[in-house]
Order: sequence, then structure tokens, then C-alpha cells
Amino acid sequence: MAEDLERFCNLLAGSGREADGGEWLESLDPATGEAWALIPRCTSTDVDAAVEAARAAFRSPEWRGLTATARGALLYRFADILAEEAERLAQIETHDNGKLIAEMRAQLGYLPAYYRYFAGLADKMEGHVLPIDKPLMHAFTRREPLGVIACITPWNSPLLLLAWKLAPLLAAGNTAVIKPSEHASCSTLAFVELFERAGFPAGVVNTVTGLPQECGEPLVRHPDIAKIAFTGGEPGGIAIYRSAAENLKKVTLELGGKSPNIIFGDADLERAVYGAVSGIFAASGQTCIAGSRLLVQRNVHDEVVERLVAIARTARIGDPKLADTQVGPVTTLAQRGKVIDHIASARQSGAECVLGGGLPTVEGLEGGWFVQPTIFTGVDNQMPIAREEVFGPVLAIIPFDDEEEALSIANDSPYGLAAGVWTQDIGRAIRMSERVEAGTIWVNTYRAVSFMAPFGGTKRSGIGRESGQEAMDEYLQTKSVWIDL
Ligand code: NAD
Repeated sequence: MAEDLERFCNLLAGSGREADGGEWLESLDPATGEAWALIPRCTSTDVDAAVEAARAAFRSPEWRGLTATARGALLYRFADILAEEAERLAQIETHDNGKLIAEMRAQLGYLPAYYRYFAGLADKMEGHVLPIDKPLMHAFTRREPLGVIACITPWNSPLLLLAWKLAPLLAAGNTAVIKPSEHASCSTLAFVELFERAGFPAGVVNTVTGLPQECGEPLVRHPDIAKIAFTGGEPGGIAIYRSAAENLKKVTLELGGKSPNIIFGDADLERAVYGAVSGIFAASGQTCIAGSRLLVQRNVHDEVVERLVAIARTARIGDPKLADTQVGPVTTLAQRGKVIDHIASARQSGAECVLGGGLPTVEGLEGGWFVQPTIFTGVDNQMPIAREEVFGPVLAIIPFDDEEEALSIANDSPYGLAAGVWTQDIGRAIRMSERVEAGTIWVNTYRAVSFMAPFGGTKRSGIGRESGQEAMDEYLQTKSVWIDL
């Protein structure tokens, strides 16, 4: 292990910490395949210490004694510091997970708004006075935090997906132990250092890094964790749900998707085609909301395919650290292997590959984990390429005849995270947004997210909602107080 690599430490009770056992894991740069940084390899000993720090902070007068308005003020201050540090954090995350620097700058530019939105909600979580049906009794409700929350995040958007959890849970008065993905922990470790600068009491925010079995599982099992907020793949989500059930812990699960992006013949095709391109190829297809099933009405099918291929063919594949790169690598070597397997299986099941389908050679980045933007036509919704999440730059195009058929294909999926509908018929837009089974429906747009809009899945895409006022409900519990006058 190279001694000269940058070392990122965990945050524990307000101080930077190596793993108790002194071990480190390499963090690899997906654009080159080489190690660029080290993160602590934590075990259950580190998890115990982090949870204890978070539990002590939860009960401390420095945190629990703060008014909700004062908590909001801390979050506002934190958002200002985050805005100052945005460029540095964007560069670290690009190094770590290969996401385009242009995309990261846009994401980090928007991120402080999440913390400001929830800062504003901190002192608006009101209880009620109950018109109780007993003489001389007074009763009211209080909305209280849950305790220590475990935030477990994936590699594709560590800081954004953490904000969806951390901003509301802190506004609600909880404390946190964060476990980022072992493949991309560095931006999170640099980010949490900012909490002390903002004046948060030590122990309110803590991190542990490492492997799922060594560090994730002990965190999930820990008796002092009140709730687990998880974003990641289905196997991890099921394992966590199972473990949470045994200990009756609350969960929010944001899992995978196979989102339909539906282009009707009456759509503005120029906009629809660009929406389809960004729907699937942003972040090299590694987003849970990827519009990976493109449903196209038969009367515009050939024109849409032609335009899509023409745009995707010219996408600049390259180093994600350069501002004009349009397609970067996938985050891990294993993920690239999975994407290539999905492509092979699509070919085997009879889909026609009309673009890409292999590994590009990018000069200077031969060691990187790139996959060509890939488009399949002639896909049947029963083929594995239409049913399984690829999490890579692979689009499956499925033709349909009319609205009923589009709807039945769209809903014939185990997932229900998001969907796009492209049409100029307002009646159709409303009918489809009512009948498509998904947590988010975009009409004549794709991929829009905001701190104001609740986000989450139906069916196998998850449990609970993040963002918007609903997110506060995920981190509060109601207490009834009775007083005999
Ligand atoms: P993953 O499930 O492998 O890992 C996610 C995190 O969970 C990591 O930190 C990992 O160490 C941890 N983990 C995994 N198994 C665990 C266990 N049994 N106990 C405790 N911790 C465990 O996911 P990934 O490969 O990093 O991310 C890709 C997946 O995330 C995709 O399936 C994608 O759809 C999903 N995702 C969902 C959303 C959403 O909001 N719905 C957003 C982004 C990504």
C-alpha cells in the first residue's frame, strides 16, 4: 500500500480518527484504476465508539438543550460553509467515484439549498392541543427526535444522498453515524469536517468507513441505533430490513429502479430525445432514477432511435476531471463487469445493439473503467435487459402502439421509482401521471429533483420518502402528554 497516498480520517466525537485496528482501505480512481487515497478500515469496535459518541451527544445539553431555532441557525451556518467548500468537495468526489466534474459542480452548487430548506423547517414542527373528552384534563402532542440514526449511502452520489438524510434528521434534533460506501468515502469524510467549523457540538455527526460485513452490519445491528436510513442496492436493503425487523428498528430504504421513460407520438421530439439521453447517460447510467427503459410509440420509433443514436454517438468519453467530458467511467471494476454481462445477455435474448456494446479505448485512460454508451432496440419487456437494473450506460428501447399498452408495459416491473412521460396532450399527461406506478413522475422533463419534492419508491424501489416536508416525519415521533388539572 503506497505510503504517499492522501489519508482521510473518520469523525468521532468531534475529532479525526483512524480505525482502532490501524488498518486502511485503498480508494481507487475509476478513471485510471489506481489507488489515490486511503480510508480507515473500521470494525465493530469503531462502530461501538461512534454510536456511543452519537448517543452521548443526543442526550447532551449542548444539543438536546438547543431550541429548534438555534438548531436551524447552526444548519444555516453549515450551509454557508458548505457553499465555500463546494469546489474542493466536488473535486474529491470526482476523483473517488468518477462522476463528471461538471455534474459535481452543479450538484455541490445546489447542495447548500438542502441544508437551508431543512434549517427553515427545524422550528416549524408543531404539536397540537387535543380537545380532550374528559373534564379537567389537558392534553397535547410533542414532536420529538428518534435518537441516533445510521445513514448508509452508496457510491454513486455520496454527498447528495447523504444530504437527503442528514439535513432533515439534524433539523429534527437527532444525531448521526454515517457509513459511506467503501468505494467512495473520501468526499463524505472531507465534508463532515465542516460541522465543527459551523459550531455543531462534538458527537452530533460521526462517521465509520469500511466493508459491509465488518462495519455496516455491526452498525445496523447496534442496539442504540433508532433508525436506519439506507440508499443502495436491493440485496443490502433486504439484509438491513431483516436485521432491523429483529430489533424493531425503523427504516427508510431507497433502492433500485428500472424506470420507464415514455415518448408518445405527439411529443416535442427534440426535447424528448434530449430528455432520453440525459435520462440514461448522466453519471454513466449509475443513478437509481436512470430512464433505462425507453418506451416509444411506434409511429415515431424509427425517428427517435435515429436521433438518439446520432446524439449518443458523439458523446465525449474521457477523464471526468475535465470540464468538457460528457461520459465518464463507471465507479468500480466489478460494476463494469456487471454492465458487460447485461449487454451480453441482451444480445443473447435477441435485442439488437444499435450503438456501443463494448469497452471504448480512451487514450491516456487505458486502466479506467469505461463502457460505451449502449442502445438496444427490439427489446421485449420480458427480457432481462428490461427487467433488471443495469446501473450503467445501457438503454433498452421498447415500442408500443397506444396509451393502454404503454401503461401496461410501464407498470409491468418489480420497481416503481420514477417515470417520464413526453406528450403535448394535457389529458394524457394527467392520466399517465395518475396511473403509472412510481414515486416520481416527470412530464416533458426528466431527472428534476428538489429539496422541496418528496422522493422515494413504490414496490421494490423502497420504503419511505426523502426530501420535502415528508422527510421531517421520517425523523420525528409523536408523544402525547396528559395533564390532570
Ligand atoms: P450497496 O447496496 O452495495 O451499498 C450501499 C451501502 O450499503 C454501502 O455503504 C455498503 O457498504 C452498505 N451495505 C451493503 N450491504 C450492507 C449490509 N448488509 N449491512 C450494512 N451495510 C451494507 O449499493 P451500491 O452498489 O453502493 O449502490 C448502487 C445501488 O444503489 C443501486 O442498486 C442503485 O439503484 C441504488 N441507489 C438508489 C438510490 C435511491 O435513491 N433509490 C439512489 C442511488 C443509488
